[in-house]
Amino acid sequence: MNIILLGPPGAGKGTQARHLVETRNMVQLSTGDMLREAKSSGTEMGNMVAGVMARGELVTDEIVIGLIREKLTGDTKGGFIFDGFPRTLEQADALTRLMADEGQTLDAVIEMRVDDEALVDRITARSTCAGCGEVYNDNTKPIPADGKCTSCGKENEFTRRSDDNEESLKTRLMAYYKQTSPLIGYYYAKGMLSTVNGLGEIAAVQREIANVLGD
Ligand code: ADP
Ligand code: ZN
Repeated sequence: MNIILLGPPGAGKGTQARHLVETRNMVQLSTGDMLREAKSSGTEMGNMVAGVMARGELVTDEIVIGLIREKLTGDTKGGFIFDGFPRTLEQADALTRLMADEGQTLDAVIEMRVDDEALVDRITARSTCAGCGEVYNDNTKPIPADGKCTSCGKENEFTRRSDDNEESLKTRLMAYYKQTSPLIGYYYAKGMLSTVNGLGEIAAVQREIANVLGD
């Protein structure tokens, strides 16, 4: 099964994707993670997109489509989870074409709906384990008192994303409404859209998604 997780920054796409990777052997394709990796390893492309990402704007369709294209070949395991991609109609069309080229189909698009206020709270309270990518939240899922990651055991390796501040979050939200939210109508019209309540607890959202996937 190949699915898209669609939703604004902070909707919980990454958290749900990690769960699907563990439970269904799916492959997570996060363009945000790929771009951050390019940035931290200092590739030419990484240096080029660093400023755009820090401001919270979208990088060009060409770059992200290229990143996805490279990943669609080879072992597909339990299917792909597209996380943070597509973010524009152009990317959505490109994905349809790329999948067709690989003889694959897109099976479902899951919109994670969360209101703006919750997003600001979530994102400004967010930190990530550098060892394994586990996501913590100062209010709802704090870093354990002993400083050890519950998932990988690494100690005190928690980082905050440089674009997780109120200023660039405003830009990211605006980019979502202007450029990405039209995809909701696009996939609805194709009969592929399901919507889950992203405000629920992590386990509740997991159940809703499992329902959509037919478990
Ligand atoms: P978020 O938590 O805001 O959903 P991501 O981790 O998915 O963010 O992406 C971080 C940043 O990387 C975005 O703000 C944007 O600059 C860039 N980016 C990621 N995916 C895409 C994409 N599909 N198209 C354009 N830019 C992207
Ligand atoms: Zn960890």
